Amino acid sequence: CGIIGILGGHEVSPQLVEALKRLEYRGYDSAGVATVDADGRLDRRRAVGKLVNLSDRLVHDPLTGHAGIGHTRWATHGPATEENAHPHRRGPVAVVHNGIIENFRELRDEVVALGLQPESQTDTETVALLTAWHMSQGLDAIAAARATLARLQGAFALAFLFDGEPDLMIAARKGSPLALGHGDGEMFLGSDAVALAPFTDRITYLEDGDHAVIRRAGAEVFDVEGQPVSREIAQIDIGA
Ligand code: GLU
Repeated sequence: CGIIGILGGHEVSPQLVEALKRLEYRGYDSAGVATVDADGRLDRRRAVGKLVNLSDRLVHDPLTGHAGIGHTRWATHGPATEENAHPHRRGPVAVVHNGIIENFRELRDEVVALGLQPESQTDTETVALLTAWHMSQGLDAIAAARATLARLQGAFALAFLFDGEPDLMIAARKGSPLALGHGDGEMFLGSDAVALAPFTDRITYLEDGDHAVIRRAGAEVFDVEGQPVSREIAQIDIGA
């Protein structure tokens, strides 16, 4: 169970897999990555089992793009299958999640009533469904993610990536840790600083209830009330 996100200046899928390897120690049963390519196209690859299965998939069916999110899953809702592996996608939205959305049954009933059919057994997919629905009602990516986050109960670290938005990532944490990594014209997101060590040692830990709107030029962080806050950038010595 780990999350990684990169708004970079190079092909990110090898970097995503490298960072996920650094999170292997947490344990996992499946893994996946999503990227947005130069044309703004969102796509994903997922595989059950070890990360080597995901890397093999990427060799045969590569993902290009300088923006991406990645995930190692430790299943809590739904067995370890490819359809339950993250990223979960609906329409323009891809989501990775660690933790549990406690009220997902209620949210799933709502989205089903709105005409959206889940494709997995996970709690996580409801986050993608709800966000996609908000976008279909005219909200932009940031407003749609916020409208969804306002509904979530439970413990989570989340990262969102959007079709047509190669310079945007949204992150949120409640209960599960999440760190931003600051590069030079690049931004990173990870479950911990260890995952980010190959890329940067300048880290901002999000506080509980925070969400961040991340672009290559930097991140804006908002607290649980939705107010902009400044969070310290710490230089950490972790060793790549
Ligand atoms: N609850 C989610 C799932 O079962 C996320 C699990 C995790 O933390 O990896 O898919």
